[in-house]
Amino acid sequence: DPLDVGLSWVNRFATLGDDFYAQLSPTPLPAPYWVGHSTSAAQAWGLDPQWLQSDDALQAFTGNRSFAGGLSLASVYSGHQFGQWAGQLGDGRAILLGETPGWEVQLKGAGLTPFSRMGDGRAVLRSSIREFLGSEAMHGLGIPTSRALCVTGSDAPVRREEIETAAVVTRLAPSFIRFGHFEHFCHHGHHDQLKRLADFVIDTHYPACRDDTRWGGNPYVSLLAAVTERTAQMVAQWQAVGFCHGVMNTDNMSILGLTIDYGPFQFMDAYDPGHICNHSDHQGRYAFYKQPNVAYWNLFCLGQALMPLIAEQEQAIAALETFKAIYPLAFAQRMAAKLGFAELQEAHRPLIEDILKLLAADKVDFTIFWRRLSHWAREQRADDASVRDLFLDRVGFDAWLLSYSELLAHIPRGLAADLMLKTNPRYVLRNHLGEEAIQAAKRKDFTVVADLLKVLERPFDEHEEHAAWADFPPDWAGSIAISCSS
Ligand code: AMP
Ligand code: MG
Ligand code: MG
Repeated sequence: DPLDVGLSWVNRFATLGDDFYAQLSPTPLPAPYWVGHSTSAAQAWGLDPQWLQSDDALQAFTGNRSFAGGLSLASVYSGHQFGQWAGQLGDGRAILLGETPGWEVQLKGAGLTPFSRMGDGRAVLRSSIREFLGSEAMHGLGIPTSRALCVTGSDAPVRREEIETAAVVTRLAPSFIRFGHFEHFCHHGHHDQLKRLADFVIDTHYPACRDDTRWGGNPYVSLLAAVTERTAQMVAQWQAVGFCHGVMNTDNMSILGLTIDYGPFQFMDAYDPGHICNHSDHQGRYAFYKQPNVAYWNLFCLGQALMPLIAEQEQAIAALETFKAIYPLAFAQRMAAKLGFAELQEAHRPLIEDILKLLAADKVDFTIFWRRLSHWAREQRADDASVRDLFLDRVGFDAWLLSYSELLAHIPRGLAADLMLKTNPRYVLRNHLGEEAIQAAKRKDFTVVADLLKVLERPFDEHEEHAAWADFPPDWAGSIAISCSS
């Protein structure tokens, strides 16, 4: 019988009506086991972390038992994949269990839905561990993201390039609505549903759009502007931490500006603006440096989808064009903070540009550079060898450090370093760290997942016992090929 864990279920998405989803239950998996769980996500949700360790929880978060009050469904959306209209896409393997105040709860990999197309509705262990650790790592970095509550596994076979085993990620977000949901109803000319969806998103997540007097008082233009703002802020944070999403298709873009759908993502090791983390991305459409422009392109798809609700095309374009000011400013502010400047000044801009050029030219490890620079700042700028040694172009670096030191001299000693140590993480989820956790988990050793989670939840702390995870990647890291296969 259904589990009652003292949560109140409100299931607001389900009130949209059956044009928006198919009601269904997850398909059970045999003999599930725990792979990992996040106490901090449980606390955010309001779930008893103690209960999260129970056998009932194990069954529920594998899709083998239901929650009393939940209303499980798979929603329908479409989208653009790699720049092309792809028609209906999902949800092929994500099943919404329902919503408790503030949080929708989804199982990813919980079986077939009417939208599974050629897929099997499952997710494999490796990609589920990556999504779990990736989302909690992003949260630890303060970057808007869906949360991951837990991963369970089963020895049930799943066919990818080879036979692997199944896993289920439980993820949480205030909403899992994507740009692709809007595109779906626009494409089919279902303008009533489109309006219902837009009104729902405004009323539940963007109430201020109702009385926004800009944009001719049109709440849908206001919504477009608000999503543009959040998306720009999110991508600025990605760029500042070296996060490559890998599959920025419009169905993977959250209407709330959250990082969602962790697939072939990567936190960059060596700084390379042209880095392509997804081995399925042959054209490099989603290369690191292209992410801001792709976000902008995706926002245009959203704008296009909202046009039936917007009379004035000029207003939609004006709302979208705010990206051109918001993104560069947000990015520059983030970069200034990485340099220890709480407030961006014009003089910081060339400093930011120049260091990115130097880092790219020598393919310097992005995370290690910023962390070492932070320590150099804290240690009152005496010996710069640990930072300088990262560069081949010592002359270029020395000149840069001189200009930087001059600007740094204007702010109180210690203040800059404090900001830097809170802005530049010591730990990110490098591919090879995820790989270590995956290999151990395949041997049924889940301690690496747990230990990595602990470190990534607080990536600005030293965690001296795990110092090796803050080090340069080993040579084999370069040969890890991550594709869309998940
Ligand atoms: P993605 O590129 O991972 O966002 O996937 C695109 C669409 O394909 C989404 O709607 C997914 O739900 C769906 N999908 C991906 N993998 C599978 C799978 N193994 N079974 C069913 N649907 C899938
Ligand atoms: Mg997706
Ligand atoms: Mg995916």
